[in-house]
Amino acid sequence: MYNVLEFWQRALLFPLTMLLVSLSLWGIFGALPAALFFGITILLRMIGNLRKLAELEYWSLAPDSREVPEDSGLWEDVFARLNKIMRKQHEEREKHAAALHQIEQATSALPEGVAILDEADHIEWCNPLAEAHFGLDSARDVGQQITYLARQPEFVQYLTLANYEAPLVLRGTRQDDIVLSIKVVPYGINKKLLISRDITHLERIETMRRDFVANVSHELRTPLTVVNGFVETLQDMEHLDNDMSRRALDLMGEQTKRMEGLVDDLLTLSRLENSLNALVEEVVDVPVLLQSLQQEGQALSAGKHTLKLELDSKAKLQGCNAELRSAFGNLVSNAVRYTPQGGEIVMRWHEQADGKVAFSVQDSGIGIAPEHIPRLTERFYRVDRSRSRETGGTGLGLAIVKHIVNRHQGSLEISSEEGKGSTFSIVFPAKRHLT
Ligand code: ADP
Repeated sequence: MYNVLEFWQRALLFPLTMLLVSLSLWGIFGALPAALFFGITILLRMIGNLRKLAELEYWSLAPDSREVPEDSGLWEDVFARLNKIMRKQHEEREKHAAALHQIEQATSALPEGVAILDEADHIEWCNPLAEAHFGLDSARDVGQQITYLARQPEFVQYLTLANYEAPLVLRGTRQDDIVLSIKVVPYGINKKLLISRDITHLERIETMRRDFVANVSHELRTPLTVVNGFVETLQDMEHLDNDMSRRALDLMGEQTKRMEGLVDDLLTLSRLENSLNALVEEVVDVPVLLQSLQQEGQALSAGKHTLKLELDSKAKLQGCNAELRSAFGNLVSNAVRYTPQGGEIVMRWHEQADGKVAFSVQDSGIGIAPEHIPRLTERFYRVDRSRSRETGGTGLGLAIVKHIVNRHQGSLEISSEEGKGSTFSIVFPAKRHLT
């Protein structure tokens, strides 16, 4: 603890002792020699202090590389304390450097690229994998805007739109065919963590899987058409009077038709999944499309249901006519197939308050228990297999709908109550709504 009294005792000890010595000298040699003695000793003492001050100043200009000056007198305590502070500071710095080194090692070992961006997307820091993914050099590129270095339009748009819910799949960031999955996590005050993952391998497997399904479906098409052709020819033969043969032929006909349906749906799904297959953008006159779908629905229902069409809006849509026909048609066909005779089906086209437009199909059919609803759009997910099969279902209809809806940036909403009926709605964003 700092003791003021002790400091003054030590500080005044020398001048007071010199004063006493001078006073005794006065008695022996007179005033002048005594004053001279006192003056010289105090001056020497002052020079000594100034020298220490000069040493302190010299040290303070580069405290890290120079030793704290030493003294055994009045300055001793100050220097000792300074020494202690410096040692502690040095230890703290070593500790921080070690921690930083560890963090650097950990982020370098991360299997993902990580970069910190400021509010204007300038790179503040990046790990080696991010350097490799975006072709950066942290020594050269820190402080640069990332969109200046990685210029893919979809990447620039992803950062500008700032909608980071879904990751962005980015191809061709460099010369090689690397595929990246990009995620942005905002944190702190306007800072962003840019995380990139190399999904080239996953993409390759996914492409192989897609190609395989597409190829198998394609290969099955021709033999199925041939078999179906023969079955139909045999069915048409008048002298085929054996009951068993006729039943067998009818069954064969039914099953080959089912397989044809399956193959067609699988091919449709493969086409929709292929990211190289861009959406055809055209103006779709939805009211006209729905009138034609109502007629198709009535034909499918064969008079067993009442099928109403409510056109609350004349809005047209920006999108692909064939895909929208397929999605809407699937919902109508499901409503017919899962609604018992005498039921009512209402198709509706309406605008929402937020500028979005929606197509919905409401039926008074068998409904769906809540636990099944989240899984309905999975391929081959069926609540009741036999009912789906009996009514000619493939289990792929809603998977196709979901893909088409995603391609139009829309959402599929399902509400249903078992035994009462269901409502399937496709909601399109306002930007697709044409008046
Ligand atoms: P499926 O070809 O079997 O109809 P979908 O993918 O079109 O295949 O539908 C998946 C499942 O969702 C169906 O098997 C059925 O159980 C259920 N489902 C679809 N639409 C309706 C509906 N309108 N009412 C009740 N259940 C439905």
